[in-house]
Amino acid sequence: MIKVDIEEERKEILKRYRKLLRLAKPLLKSGDAKLIKKAFNVASEAHKEMRRKSGEPYIYHPLEVALICVEEIGLGTTSIVAALLHDVVEDTDMELEDIEREFGVKVAQIIDGLTKIAGVFDYGSSQQAENFRKMLLTLSDDVRVILIKLADRLNNMRTLDSMPRHKQLKIGSETKYLYAPLAHRLGLYSIKSELEDLHLKFMDNEAYEYISKRISDTRVSRNKFIKTFITPIENELQAQGFKFVIKGRPKSVYSIYNKMKTQNIPFEEVFDLFAIRVIIDTSYENEKAACWQVYSIVTDFYRPNPNRLRDWISTPRANGYESLHTTAMSQTGQWVEVQIRTQRMDDIAERGYAAHWKYKEKKMPQKKQPVAWMSGLLK
Ligand code: MN
Repeated sequence: MIKVDIEEERKEILKRYRKLLRLAKPLLKSGDAKLIKKAFNVASEAHKEMRRKSGEPYIYHPLEVALICVEEIGLGTTSIVAALLHDVVEDTDMELEDIEREFGVKVAQIIDGLTKIAGVFDYGSSQQAENFRKMLLTLSDDVRVILIKLADRLNNMRTLDSMPRHKQLKIGSETKYLYAPLAHRLGLYSIKSELEDLHLKFMDNEAYEYISKRISDTRVSRNKFIKTFITPIENELQAQGFKFVIKGRPKSVYSIYNKMKTQNIPFEEVFDLFAIRVIIDTSYENEKAACWQVYSIVTDFYRPNPNRLRDWISTPRANGYESLHTTAMSQTGQWVEVQIRTQRMDDIAERGYAAHWKYKEKKMPQKKQPVAWMSGLLK
């Protein structure tokens, strides 16, 4: 038996709850904080005797799921409330009617949807993918069900360590074959890559550790290379009065793993280990022209590979992704992928669906509004 300090745990729970409130604050309207507090209290009470497999208080899980909804997906109060309560109907004595009475019909519908998704997997058959697809169709009237489910899955993957091996394998493969593609479809790029990385961590731990270590071992020389590469671009952007940030980020462990495997090459020979991203701050009207201006600056310094030019600004991808990509040759003869986009495009590329709605509220021309790509999303 592990001894637990109840007082310490209570403090930690409150600390996490306050963090959630703090991060949600910019999104809250009057009365929202009260509702979130009520959901937190109800969930804490309902789960109070329960613990996660790790031995931690169960309430950590719904709190983390709510936090992912806010921080990584950008969802608002209804979703936060539903995330806090997402496991109470399935795992405790509380009924859907109780939720509806206390929190209204919308929250109850979302939780009902989440509980039904869980049911689909209980059969554990090869029918899963098909059932899953059907389930999504029936739930597509409220995409928040799917977004909260993804947050739930992400937290479960982050804490998969404490699960028995057979569960790791089952949850890991579901994640790879159902949830990661779904996150991709919804344009949630960072969640998609984290899910894939975590899948790899549990399915092929040796490869995962090896690649992670190589990425961190090569950090210093990579950063040096990136700095040399971007310096002339930075100077010119400044001279032309751009507001911008440039990031150089390694590709995900999983995508490197995939390249090594499909091309049958060692780590050292995966040439595009990272991408350079130029993110500019400009008005909506000026976006396209500004991105091409940056493209022109980049290619003044480095020779582009004409076969690798991708213009997803004129023609965004089906999941809403917009960006201008080119691959250019560095001074040392290495090809480097350069992604050029605006702050708005970057937000949408990283956080997907919910970010679209944030921009929708600002004045945007009809054709760029998210409804068009959303309507085709779950077909
Ligand atoms: Mn859960």
